[in-house]
Formats: sequence, structure tokens, C-alpha cells
Amino acid sequence: ASFGVVESARVAVTARLAESASQEQSEVVSMLLREFEEGQADWLWQVDIRRRLKAVSPRFAFALGKEPAETEGQSFLQLISGDGWESGQFPPSLHELAEKLKRKENFSNLSVKVSIDGEDRWWELSGTPIVDELGNYQGFRGVGSDVTEQRKSSEKIEYLARYDTLTQLPNRRMLNEALGDALQYAAKWRSRCAFLMIDLDRFKAVNDSLGHLVGDQMLAEVAARLRGLIQEGEICGRLGGDEFAVVIRDASHKGRIELLARAIIERLSEPYEIENHVLYVGASVGSAMGPRDGSTVEELLRNSDLALYRAKDEGGGTHREYEPALHANAEEKRQLEHALRHALERDEFLLHFQPVVNAKTEDIVSFEALARWNSAEHGFVSPGKFIPLAEDTRLIVPIGTWVLQEACREAAENWPEHVKVNVNVSPEQLLEPDFAATVVRALSHSRLEPKRLEIEVTESIFMRDASVARKALEQCMALGCSVALDDFGTGYSSLGYLRKLKFSTIKIDRTFVQGAAQHSPESIAIIRAVIAMADSLDMTTTAEGVENEEEAAMIRGMGCTKIQGFHFGRPMPAQDVCGLFARRAMEQRLARA
Ligand code: C2E
Ligand code: CA
Ligand code: CA
Repeated sequence: ASFGVVESARVAVTARLAESASQEQSEVVSMLLREFEEGQADWLWQVDIRRRLKAVSPRFAFALGKEPAETEGQSFLQLISGDGWESGQFPPSLHELAEKLKRKENFSNLSVKVSIDGEDRWWELSGTPIVDELGNYQGFRGVGSDVTEQRKSSEKIEYLARYDTLTQLPNRRMLNEALGDALQYAAKWRSRCAFLMIDLDRFKAVNDSLGHLVGDQMLAEVAARLRGLIQEGEICGRLGGDEFAVVIRDASHKGRIELLARAIIERLSEPYEIENHVLYVGASVGSAMGPRDGSTVEELLRNSDLALYRAKDEGGGTHREYEPALHANAEEKRQLEHALRHALERDEFLLHFQPVVNAKTEDIVSFEALARWNSAEHGFVSPGKFIPLAEDTRLIVPIGTWVLQEACREAAENWPEHVKVNVNVSPEQLLEPDFAATVVRALSHSRLEPKRLEIEVTESIFMRDASVARKALEQCMALGCSVALDDFGTGYSSLGYLRKLKFSTIKIDRTFVQGAAQHSPESIAIIRAVIAMADSLDMTTTAEGVENEEEAAMIRGMGCTKIQGFHFGRPMPAQDVCGLFARRAMEQRLARA
């Protein structure tokens, strides 16, 4: 507001000066001068026909870095041009001022870069030629003010609006502008531009487990590495979070996109050393080319995002180019999500159960409950597809509650008392504040003995709010339930996790069982290490994915406690489980008879 006041006062003074200019009435001038200088931070300036200063006020002298007496009769331009006077190299704005004075042209609010005592400053000057009553030119007069500070802060604001403060890279807004420019350039020269969207793989795990300070340092390092990879005509920036992007202005050169994408993935996947941690993340890249894949910034952003999504979906660490078919996939996913939202109320879920047997006796000790979705629109959808979707949308919370209730009910009602039930639980469920209460309700409604329920979790629970998840699991263990560590070896695999919680079982992932069956020395070593560790910690082990007798024999030989896999039974509907028990009972009766 105060700037506005100064502004309007200045306009008024300039107008009145212009009015009085022709009369050269000294009283008017001095009156105006006093009035003006008392109230404002601005000053008046005046030069004669040879552009030498006249009647310099103390305030103007101060702005010039001199005493009034030192300036009187001096060349205005010489005093403000610093070294430029000698070299004749004026900055463009000063050059413009000189031109205006030479051509005797009115000017207002001209921003001029001046040099005062060797320091660069910005002035805003207005001026009007003075003409006497006979119409003869007498010089110039005007107002001016030092706007260096304002300019600095507006430059700073401009900078903040366009750069990311953490990484010093251009931000989303500037990237959008650069992409817009690149599109125009491509249209003008009939060339192509490109947008690469980059997302770090597993960054969340680093951020969640080691904290934001470490995460921030990693992002800064990522930015530095990216900067080192781009060439002239390319700009890289940060879109936000762990998302970065590159705009390639002229992507006509064949193979540049693929080459850059590959270099980015490789470079960003190298280890990071931060605060004595050696950290690994990966990177995925999605790219789209303009104008082929989109003629507007929005379209290119959306399409490179779709390509990125595909790259992530394929497990990360890759580059995918946009192709129109991706829209269909995204649309399918959207429809799937929509259907999933209504699946519970439409009663579309059911459970299959897969037996887990004692490795030595081959007696059934438990069944793992595995969710199945029979969608009205999509038919049977595999859990590999809908569970991640449910986790992303947090629909896993109500779905997981249903699984828990249904599994407990089935086991309590229809199975022999020594057979347990295993239920998979996602990290999202454990982060709900009332997870333990959900378990209590499932147990009490079904009247299942707590010791017959085993909850399966993966290592990923240690990645996010580990203490919340651990507390929830400890509450379940206090009820008498047990907890199994699922898919061991596939995640961030550290035996250290085994000390963090008293698991009753470690489930060795199918990949190691298959690896060992093919005599992979690493797989064999890992299985042996896990079994030894589990034994020493008084935990049992379950080998997953055993598909034939040889594999079963090998696993048994290694000392695994339990086996699960197609060899001993595929996941089956609830009534088949009942049938299985009925048959076993019949066989036992026959054997006794
Ligand atoms: P998981 O917990 O590792 O479950 C074992 C998966 O391995 C099951 O796949 C099972 O059918 C498969 N499998 C078992 N034995 C063999 C074998 O010998 N060979 C082969 N090739 N595969 C075998 P499924 O049923 O497709 O489930 C996939 C994943 O979906 C599960 O992996 C689990 O992570 C998740 N899931 C299933 N139901 C639920 C649930 O109710 N809640 C949550 N949170 N996740 C679930
Ligand atoms: Ca499982
Ligand atoms: Ca598993």
C-alpha cells in the first residue's frame, strides 16, 4: 500500500513539474522540492543542456554517494556509469537513458542500472525536458528513486517461484514453461521435443526408515547427478517429492531419449553415501515426445506420467515410452478400482485355502487363507493384481477385515482343532489404530482359539512407521496369536529383522526354493542360513512353492520345519478342505479296521 502512495505522489509531482517546466518558476520548483523531499524516499534531479547536474539536493547527492558540492556541474552520466564511462560500454538501461536525454524525450519509470561507488544499483527515473518561454531547450528535470532492494526481493520472489529450494533445480512451474517453449520451438522448426518423467524406486523406504533429513540429502544428491547428465538444450528439474523431469528442447537426434533415460537410471541407481549409510534406490523413467504424443503441455505431462506408471508397474528400473495403448491400461485400472470399491457389498470375495504340512510327517498343520475376487464385470481377478490396487486405495482395510473374519469363522466351524489358519495382513491394515481390536472381534465372533490364528506379514512393515506396526503385532501376540514373516528374502532382506519381533515362523520365498532346486549356490546358502538362524531363535520355517517330490525331499533334507506348495495341495475352496478332512478321517478309520 505504501508503495502505491509513493507511486501516486510521484506521478502527481512529475505532472506538476511538467506543467511548471516551461515557466521555470523557481518558487514553484523549490516549493515542490520541499514538499516532495520531506515526504518521500525519492529525489528530484535536474541537468542543464550539456547534461550536467544542477541544484543537487542533499538527498540526491546521498544517492550519488557524494556531497552536494562535489556533484554540482558534474556530468550526470559520468557519475552513474562507473567504469562504463571510460570504456564507453554502458549497460543497456543506461544507454537507453542517454538516448532519451539526447533526443529530449519524456520518460517515466525507466529502470536504470547505475554504478555508485563501484556498487551496482537500480534506479527508477522519470524525466521531462525543460523548455523556456521562448521554446528553447534548457535541460532535463525529473524524479528518481533507488529501487535496488525492491528489485532484489522481486528477483528473489521470482527465483523462489521458479526453483526448488531443496535441490536448486527448476521446479514444476519452470519445467512446464520450458516444455511449453520446447513445444513452440518444435512447431516452428518442425522438430520434436521430449519430456522425461523420473521417479525414484524405493525412495519411500529410505525416507520412512532413516528420516527426512537423510531423504532430503539423497534428493539433493540425485539432483546433482541429474545435472551432470544433461546437455545443452536440455533442462532438468524437480516436480516434487521424489519425482524429477527433463525437458529436451530438440529431440530430433535419434536415440537421445533412450540414451539419456538409460544413463539416468544407471547413474541414479549407484549407491549413495549419506551420513555413514550406504543407500540404494533405483529409478524409473517414462517419456513422451512432442508433438507426436501430445501437442499441449498437459497432454505431454499426462502421457509421460502414464509411461512412467507402466515402467513402475513392470517392477521399476526401466524406461518406457508413451504409446496410445497405455490409455487403455489406465482406463482398465480405473474401472477395476471402481469395481473393487463395490466388491465387498456385492459379496464378490471368497477365500481359498492352501495346506501347509509338517515336513517330516506330511500331516496338515495349517491352511493359508488366500483371497479370491470374482468380479461381475471382470471375472476372476488374481490377487497379484487386486491386492496392490486395494493397498494403494486403502480398500485393503475393509477387505482385510472381511478376510480375517471369514478365515477365523471357517477354521472354527469346520476344521479339526489342531489345524491353524494363516491370514495375510498388509502394512496398511497394521497402521490402522484399531487393528488389534479387529482381531479380537474376529476371534470372539468365530470363537476361534487365538493360538490357532497365525498372522502373515512381510518385511515391508519395518519400512514404514515400524513402531506402530510392531505394537499392533505385539498386542496380537499378547492375545495368543502367532506371527509369521512372509516371503522372506524378497524384500530388504536383513536377518536383523528377525531380532525385532518374536516371529513364530519364517516363510522362505518360493524363488529360493526354486533356486535351490536348480542347484543355485546362493539360494542354498540363504536357505541354510535362514534355517540355522530360525533354529537358534526358536522359530520354525516354512518353505513356499514346493512343486514336486524332489523339491520336498531336498527341503526336508535341509531341515525346514514345514512345507507349502502345489505338491501338497493347491489353494482350494472351503468345501474341498472339509472334503479333505472327511477323506483323511475315513482313511484313518479304514487303516485302524
Ligand atoms: P503369498 O502370501 O506369498 O501366497 C502364496 C502364493 O503363492 C499364492 O498365490 C499361492 O497360490 C502361490 N503358491 C503356493 N504354492 C505354490 C507353488 O507350489 N507354486 C507356485 N507357482 N505358486 C504357489 P496367490 O493366491 O495368487 O496370492 C498371491 C499373493 O496375494 C499372496 O502371496 C499374498 O501376498 C497376496 N494375498 C492373497 N490373499 C491375501 C489377503 O487376504 N490379504 C493380503 N493382504 N494379501 C493377500
Ligand atoms: Ca502369505
Ligand atoms: Ca509368501
